This record gives sequence, C-alpha cells and structure tokens, in this order.
Amino acid sequence: MSTIEHWIGGGPVTGSGTGRGSVFDPATGARQHEVVLADERDVDAAVRAAAQAYESWSQTSLSRRATILFAFRELVAAHAGELAGVISAEHGKVLSDAAGEVQRGLEVVEFACGIAHLLKGSYTDQASTGVDVYSFREPLGVVAGITPFNFPVMVPMWMHPVAIACGNTFVLKPSERDPSASNLVARLWREAGLPDGVFNVVHGDRVAVDALLDHPRVAAVSFVGSTPIARYLHGRATANGKRVQALGGAKNHAVVLPDADLEFVAGHLSAAAFGSAGERCMAVSAAVAVGGAGDPLAELLTRRAAEVVVGPGRDPKSEMGPVVTAAAKQRIEALIGSGARQGADVLVDGRGYRVAGYEDGFFVGPTVIDHVRSSMDVYTQEIFGPVLSMLRAGTAEEAIEMINANPYGNGTAIFTASGAAARAFQRGVRVGMIGVNVPLPVPMAYYSFGGWKDSLFGERHIHGPEGIAFYTRGKVVTSRWPGTGAAHGASMHFPTAS
Ligand code: NAD
Repeated sequence: MSTIEHWIGGGPVTGSGTGRGSVFDPATGARQHEVVLADERDVDAAVRAAAQAYESWSQTSLSRRATILFAFRELVAAHAGELAGVISAEHGKVLSDAAGEVQRGLEVVEFACGIAHLLKGSYTDQASTGVDVYSFREPLGVVAGITPFNFPVMVPMWMHPVAIACGNTFVLKPSERDPSASNLVARLWREAGLPDGVFNVVHGDRVAVDALLDHPRVAAVSFVGSTPIARYLHGRATANGKRVQALGGAKNHAVVLPDADLEFVAGHLSAAAFGSAGERCMAVSAAVAVGGAGDPLAELLTRRAAEVVVGPGRDPKSEMGPVVTAAAKQRIEALIGSGARQGADVLVDGRGYRVAGYEDGFFVGPTVIDHVRSSMDVYTQEIFGPVLSMLRAGTAEEAIEMINANPYGNGTAIFTASGAAARAFQRGVRVGMIGVNVPLPVPMAYYSFGGWKDSLFGERHIHGPEGIAFYTRGKVVTSRWPGTGAAHGASMHFPTAS
C-alpha cells in the first residue's frame, strides 16, 4: 500500500500533518492506498510556495504562458489513458467514462491556450480631446480550488488551467477519496515547464479546507461539491474577504412531453441516470412524464435499467461501475428503502446488487422508482447514485413549476418534437444549464458552467468567459500626454469630456 503525498513547490512532500485517509478500490472494497491529510502548517507551506512563485509567474509574458499551456495540453493528451486508469481505480467509474472526463478537462486546457486573445483589453481613442481610455485585466494572486470526488481530473481542470493562464498561482485541495490523479496532473505541469510553486496540491479534509479559507494570502476560492459545504465555504471565505465561486449539488429534472420519441428518450435517460453510477452533478435523477408519456416510459426505462452491464470499472465490458465508498452505497440503499416506505413504486431495485467475483465491492444496481411525489425523501434529497425517480405532471407548465419549486437549479432537459414547447421551457425554468433533447447539457469549455439557486453560491460560473473574469480583476486607465491637443487648464468641477 503506497502513501499519496502533497505536491508543494514542484515536488512531493510528506508534510507535517499526522492524519491519514484511506483510498479504496470501490470494485473490491479493499483499502489500496493511504493519503496524507494536511494540517494548517502544510497548507501554509503550499500557499507560501504559491505566493513566492506568483512574483515571477504574474510577470511572465502571455506568449511564454501560452507556450507552457500548449505543452501541458500535449502531455495531458498523451497521458489520457493513464489518467483514465488512475481515475477508474480510485473512483470506480468505467474506463470509457473516465476517458470522457479527461477529454472534457482537456478542452478547458485548450480554451486556456488562447489566453492572449482572452485577456485582450479595450481601447478608446480620443474619448475626450487628447484623452484616451483603455482597460486591461490582472491576476488576483494565490487562488485555491477545492474539488469533489466525482470528477477528479475534469473538475480541477475547470479551474487551474484558466487560473494559471491568467497569471495566478494555484493550490488544489482535491477530494481525499480519489487523490492520486491530482499528483499525476502536477507532474505533467512540471514536465510542461511550469515553474515550481505555480501549481500545488495539498491533500486533506475539512482541516485543510478551513486553513485555505482563513489564509490571508489566498485571494479567491473555487469550490465544487455538495450544497451544504458550498454554502458554508462561501460564507466563511467571503467573510474573510475572498472572492468565491462555490458550485453545489443538484436535482436535475428531465421533462418528457407526449410528442417525444420515447425509445430515444428511454435510451438517453438511462445513460444520463445510470452513467457513472449516477455520481454526476448533471445526472438526470428525476424524470417528469407529462400527460400520457408516463406508463410507456416507465415500461421502457424498466427494460433499459435491467440491461445495464454492471461490473468493475477496469473491465471494458462494464457500462456502470460501483459507487465510491461503502458509506455511499449504504446511504443510497437507505434512500431507495425510504421511497418504498413512503409509497412510491420501486420498479427496478438496485439494493443488495452482487457482481460475481466482486462481492465486497460497493455496487448498487440501476434503480427506477415510479410515482414519486415531491414530498418524498428520494425527491427532496440529492441521492447521487444510480437511481431514477419518475414523477407525473398534467401539463408542461406544471412540470416547469415543479422544477422552479425545487431548491436546486443546476441542469435540466426537455424531450419534445415541438420547438414552441422547448422555447417556452428554456425561457421558463430557473436553471443554469438546459438541454433540448440533450439529457446532460454540460456546456463546452468556451461557455461557462454553473447552476442557479442552491446549486451555486457566488455569482460567477466556472471556466469559459466567466472563468477569465473570476480569476482576474480589471483596471481602466484614462490617459493624456502633453502635445496631443489636450486641454491645459485645470478646473474645480467634476471632470467631463470635451
Ligand atoms: P463534498 O461536498 O463532500 O466534498 C467536496 C470537497 O469539500 C472535498 O474536497 C471535501 O474534502 C471537502 N469537504 C467535505 N466536507 C467538508 C467540510 N465539512 N468542511 C470543509 N470541506 C469539506 O462533495 P463530494 O461528495 O466529494 O462530491 C459530490 C457532490 O458534489 C454532489 O453534491 C454533487 O452534486 C456535487 N458536484 C457539483 C458539481 C457542480 O458543478 N455543481 C460538480 C460535481 C459535483
């Protein structure tokens, strides 16, 4: 069993924290590594390394920064298979899914390669006689990223390529459940020529998080994780004067109108609910069937759920792997039980799922629960497992009301053949990311990702143009030079253009 260390100032560091976390193989249930857990001194060492590196990195030319980003892009692409293997081994997701995650992270690196263009300011010639006005953006300093277990490569990549390209230095605190991928990414940054201290990784739990939130040299915090922690972190970090974007949990509804092709819908909903064992913040966890769509859809989903090939992530035949921990399996199974007790129909029950040869793995089978009502725990709680709840609505308007009454607002989708219905839906829902006949509407890297309501605390979405805005602050210069016709005399009145 190996020990996973921090990465501070350009290399691995054991640190002074004495705590250790367990990293499991979710397919077998075996403890495979231990990970060091940072104390305040380790976090301070990482932040100081980043603060020191900031002095020169923030002054490094855009052209030099872009060169390193291009080199990093090539290295991530070359190591995509290795990264996917590391993700799958600790998270449990199937290899093809892990490869997809790496690809979506890579796309953010590619976006950040265009940093010279993205940081272009504006210029107004002769705003007043002999006076020009222009703007540019500067980095913030040391910025921190705190990330969840479910995308150990992609979610950190929503943050660090953009932050670093903007001239910041970065301290990543990844999930302690699947920490190894972050150290591999750190090695790739170093190989790409990134100076030591620009990208650091501290492993840990809430002790490390609190130390980052309280550290005076951390200028901004990006967080992705569950809503209670997002809310807490936003409160504490903003009280400490930091800029914060904190993306929280989700309950994503897919509305199915009776005019939709139900075979197409069932295939896509099954993939969106059970892919990655439902451990995606954009997973569809609530299907809202409108009018007569309910019964035929329930039948098709039942068939699809039974067809999903469940097995260890490393087996290429598997379509769905285990969930991340024994605790997650227990929580998901308890919620399925609550659905049955509270009067819903469990059409396909994934509790007690066994995979031959992997009896101790953290497997939960695909689950479909019909006739769910909005008061039931399976609806009010984020299950974060392979469980699809079905609800019924009389009309599309009623479905929109249901979505808007839900506290989350991350993603949603509508399945329909009607452009008018889709347009009314996209205008009516209070949700950040919307799919039209697309169940997982994860925006491309050059747009920004983020939800509304309890799915986001702070006002900036992540990556894309909003990511650039989050990791920089603007300056506007009003300038005049002698000999350009500018007025010479001074006046006591408030300056106006002439
Ligand atoms: P989590 O909130 O438990 O953990 C996220 C991070 O916070 C981890 O780094 C963890 O170490 C840290 N943390 C945990 N408890 C803490 C505490 N008490 N104080 C301070 N820090 C703490 O989330 P998770 O279980 O790793 O990930 C799943 C959650 O993330 C789901 O709710 C999912 O919807 C959400 N998520 C959201 C998005 C999005 O874009 N909105 C994307 C991915 C995941």
